[in-house]
Amino acid sequence: MSSILSIENIKKSYHVVQALKGVSFEVPKGSVFGVLGPNGSGKTTLLGILLDVLKADSGQFEWIGYPNDFTARKNIGSLLETPNFYHYMTAKDNLILTAHIKERGLEDVDRVLQQVNLYERRDSKFSTFSLGMKQRLAIAGALLGKPDILVLDEPTNGLDPVGISEIRDLIRSLNQEGITVIMASHLLDEVEKVCTHVAILKQGVLLSSGPVSHVSNDEEWIELSASNKQTLANALTNNPLVKSIRVEELIHIVLQPNASIEGINTYCMQQGIVLNHIQKRKRSLESKFMEMTK
Ligand code: ADP
Repeated sequence: MSSILSIENIKKSYHVVQALKGVSFEVPKGSVFGVLGPNGSGKTTLLGILLDVLKADSGQFEWIGYPNDFTARKNIGSLLETPNFYHYMTAKDNLILTAHIKERGLEDVDRVLQQVNLYERRDSKFSTFSLGMKQRLAIAGALLGKPDILVLDEPTNGLDPVGISEIRDLIRSLNQEGITVIMASHLLDEVEKVCTHVAILKQGVLLSSGPVSHVSNDEEWIELSASNKQTLANALTNNPLVKSIRVEELIHIVLQPNASIEGINTYCMQQGIVLNHIQKRKRSLESKFMEMTK
């Protein structure tokens, strides 16, 4: 995957608070890229810098594949704050007004209403919409002008479960249409469900970035136990199938790349050791995130 955005050593302070302490990563074209971190980790600051709402103290970023910054900017739709739609106006009229303000084409309004699945409700007043529909309309506003890239700050914040699910489905479908989505989230469950790639921030420092599957799956281990734990531990220590071993209440081993759980089971049986527990464990993004950010 080629990159659509390259971020290099971005730093930003607000007086004494260092919000970003030298953040670098690449966003692949066509990804749903999650900027994940607890509140206060610098997500909004970073998105603000990428959208030229804020200026970094140092470092740089580049939207790749556009002849200049102006063209890049025209191809980015964003939603940093909830837009001020008028409650007494219809969905369509609100979008027409947004299109005027953003100087984006009116011909786009029906298209974006269809894209967010609100076309049937285009003549309903904004006040009759559920929270999820209001947020979908906000995303419709960001889609005016047919951007290639969408930048969303916590797009499911404050929504009920139905609204959350609607927005996540919408993000996936927009991505399938070819839009690269960059979204901040403090919910790793959301990132695991929606994003293909992630950058994890903690207090302005990048802890990890890459495909969600790599960041979450790079650690797998096997839990084992037998009635005689010491015999089992001895059999697995310095064993060619085993990369590392940790003896706790259960025995935890990390296998060598060419070894399998079946191989370990067979080996133990051959040594006369009957296992009473054997289970593969994968460190989830959640446990990794908790460990990284605590
Ligand atoms: P997040 O979006 O992850 O919650 P922010 O980027 O909003 O993080 O904030 C990062 C840090 O910068 C926090 O410590 C926050 O208090 C501080 N901060 C953000 N905006 C301002 C501001 N305008 N003035 C002073 N401090 C700010």
